[in-house]
Amino acid sequence: MAPTANCIFTRPSADKAMLRQQFIDRLAALYGKTLDEASELDIYNVIASMVREEINRRWAVTNRYYKERKVKQVYYFSMEFLIGRLLTANMLNLGIYGLYKEALAELGVDIDRIEQQEQDAGLGNGGLGRLAACFLDSLACMNYAGHGCGIRYKYGLFEQKIIDGHQFELPDNWLKEGYPWEVRKADKAVTVRFGGQVRLEESGGRLVAVHENYEAVKAVPYDIPVVGCNNKTVNTLRLWSAETDKPDFDFSTFSRGNYLKAMEYKYAVEAISQILYPDDTYQEGRLLRLKQQYFLVSAGLQSIVRRYKKLGENLHFLPDYVAIHINDTHPALVVPELMRILMDEEGLGWDEAWRITTGCVFYTNHTVMPEALEKWPTDMLRSLLPRIYMIIEEINERFCRELWRSYPGDWERIRRMAVIADNMVHMANLAVVGSASVNGVAKIHTEILKKDVFKLFYEYCPHKFNNKTNGVTHRRWLAKANPLLARLLDETIGPAWLNHPEDLVFLHPYASDPAFQARFAKVKQFNKERLAAYIQDRLGLAIDPCSIFDIQVKRIHAYKRQLLNILHILHLYDRLTAQPDLDIVPRTFIFAGKAAPGYYFAKRIIKLINDVAALVNSDKRICDKLKVVFLENYNVSLAELIIPAADLSEQISTASREASGTGNMKFMMNGAITIGTLDGANIEIKEAVGDDNIIIFGLTAGEVLNYYKNGGYNAWQEYHGDKRVKAVLDRLLTWEDSRLIYDTVLNNNDEFFVLKDFSTYIEAQERAAKYYQDSGKWWNMAIHNVAYAGYFSSDRTIAEYAIGLWRLNRAVIVDSGGQ
Ligand SMILES: *Cc1c(COP(=O)(O)O)cnc(C)c1O
Repeated sequence: MAPTANCIFTRPSADKAMLRQQFIDRLAALYGKTLDEASELDIYNVIASMVREEINRRWAVTNRYYKERKVKQVYYFSMEFLIGRLLTANMLNLGIYGLYKEALAELGVDIDRIEQQEQDAGLGNGGLGRLAACFLDSLACMNYAGHGCGIRYKYGLFEQKIIDGHQFELPDNWLKEGYPWEVRKADKAVTVRFGGQVRLEESGGRLVAVHENYEAVKAVPYDIPVVGCNNKTVNTLRLWSAETDKPDFDFSTFSRGNYLKAMEYKYAVEAISQILYPDDTYQEGRLLRLKQQYFLVSAGLQSIVRRYKKLGENLHFLPDYVAIHINDTHPALVVPELMRILMDEEGLGWDEAWRITTGCVFYTNHTVMPEALEKWPTDMLRSLLPRIYMIIEEINERFCRELWRSYPGDWERIRRMAVIADNMVHMANLAVVGSASVNGVAKIHTEILKKDVFKLFYEYCPHKFNNKTNGVTHRRWLAKANPLLARLLDETIGPAWLNHPEDLVFLHPYASDPAFQARFAKVKQFNKERLAAYIQDRLGLAIDPCSIFDIQVKRIHAYKRQLLNILHILHLYDRLTAQPDLDIVPRTFIFAGKAAPGYYFAKRIIKLINDVAALVNSDKRICDKLKVVFLENYNVSLAELIIPAADLSEQISTASREASGTGNMKFMMNGAITIGTLDGANIEIKEAVGDDNIIIFGLTAGEVLNYYKNGGYNAWQEYHGDKRVKAVLDRLLTWEDSRLIYDTVLNNNDEFFVLKDFSTYIEAQERAAKYYQDSGKWWNMAIHNVAYAGYFSSDRTIAEYAIGLWRLNRAVIVDSGGQ
């Protein structure tokens, strides 16, 4: 791929020659090989080690700067960081991609091919984990001292294989070949305690908690640098790994029994950071998951407090120097754990500890789906984390007493707001009570939080609630994923957009310029051909790069309604087979996404997509006017390949269910037109691009929520009332595996309103086809989408968090050189 103006670091050719020599020397030093003998993995490792060196010096300078100036730090706690590959992203941000690409090309090494040797770090399920990764990029690029705190899962999200149309899950052993971006920091390890008993003892006139018979787990941090773009900042993503302190086994007591016990113990401890739970939409209530959450929280907070104390500042001022952000409720135990550290380890009283804690912690809610809201049985929490449970009880008691003063006698309200109720700890309530701020991730989502999910809390403390509409880093999702568009932008509006995404608006005047449209269309065509080649290679299927690329890629879930999309395909197919000379615009429907392994409905959807693909792709009568593709193993790298090739972006969730969505933003940024419901950030995309540059259909969130309140609607009535609905649903019965879908939709009363939105969706799709045929109009729409994508950069989101919540200043790191 050609480099963009942004990444051509015009250095003299002497630099390139030096780099070439350095590469050859290092290959010899590390592997004892010449270029001819080296594998692509060897080459990858050598290049990564060279890039790491460029990073390391800056990393040390940044850390020293933060420490000397006592810069306020934000720590973003998240159970997931879906960072994807780092080699090219790091080189682009360092401004050395062009140099490396050219220098290596002279040796016959294609750096874009070599990049594929890197395993995606897939330590996340989807949107929530990817958001965390986008935020880290924006923090570093905007000179904010912001770091990630997460778990180094040995196995990330499973690798998906499709066999005979079914999903199979394989372990994702991403560390198999080693990971060149991490640094193990054994000297920074901390101990996390589980189980045991806690006694309160009087000592020196105060009660102290004595914790005994606990199990001590060693938490070892692995640090990954987060490189800023064209600045000097390198922040840190710190991932914790669980280890035993004891040696693998003790030779002196070597006997069969001891050996097995030692190994079992080691295995049980390491299980904590062994695997990422593969579902973020359903809470299972498993003990191991709770262990993971506390492990992250305790290790992360201990290291933050330790670092803070080295600054020599009093703990009373912690909120002036540290902000702790929790990505959903998964790390909500930061509230009682910080209380524990401040009281039990640092000797502060309750009131002071509470003031500090509630000054430091900030909470983002990510979902209104009831089955995703976290609750833990009190028994489980009490036995796994006895001291933490005591503190939660105290938080609950004090909070309920406070509520009683405002709502005397209103038991029902107090029960619903309580942290502990019905023998469950309600993590969302804990997070709201214990934090300085609660935010939703799109305007409509925040409104639903205020009016529905957290209604009582909103009435009680309205000032805590605010909105921060999500964003995505345009550096990965535009500059890296779509280098030809990036170059076209550089040539048209100059290169400043890379650090100032709002500058994309300067593209507006070009939207209707035929010459620019032609260049824009050429880029899209190239990206479509790039994807078509991948599909040909993987599936042996030829697709027409001139057809509309109609794409839905995201987790497979009932509320995201891949089913609605398939029913539309079946409807088109029925029309075409009935009337083969029907003049429709050829379309290629592309799907990708993983289903949670235990989510049967979603797995049947995958099978249905593949069954429909087999039917449609082999039918000669329809003359290749329709093609259906399911690409396996959707992850960040595949997203980078697919999204720039999209004409139509399918964002068709049931209104009110998708908190924000971020896939929608990646697509618009790459000049795809959204066909979507008035849900999540789609609404703000519509506001940004204007009604003429987006295709909207379906029920509104208000209508959906009204139906939910009144027990839904009659799905059978919809089925019998619209011949087209009946025809496509009946077709599902031709596949044995799709019976479950048919039954679920009709007998569970179509919980996600697929049938209710079917006819308006078909109309919307007809509009899309009509616009596509008018290429002047289409490219005008597409270019408008890019021009107004700046708002959806995570740079804007992070600026809002930093100014509105965390109160951070942008550091200006001056590298004095030396040392
Ligand atoms: C952006 C992204 C998502 C989130 O997509 P939505 O359409 O917002 O659900 C999920 N997975 C990957 C790999 C992504 O890059």
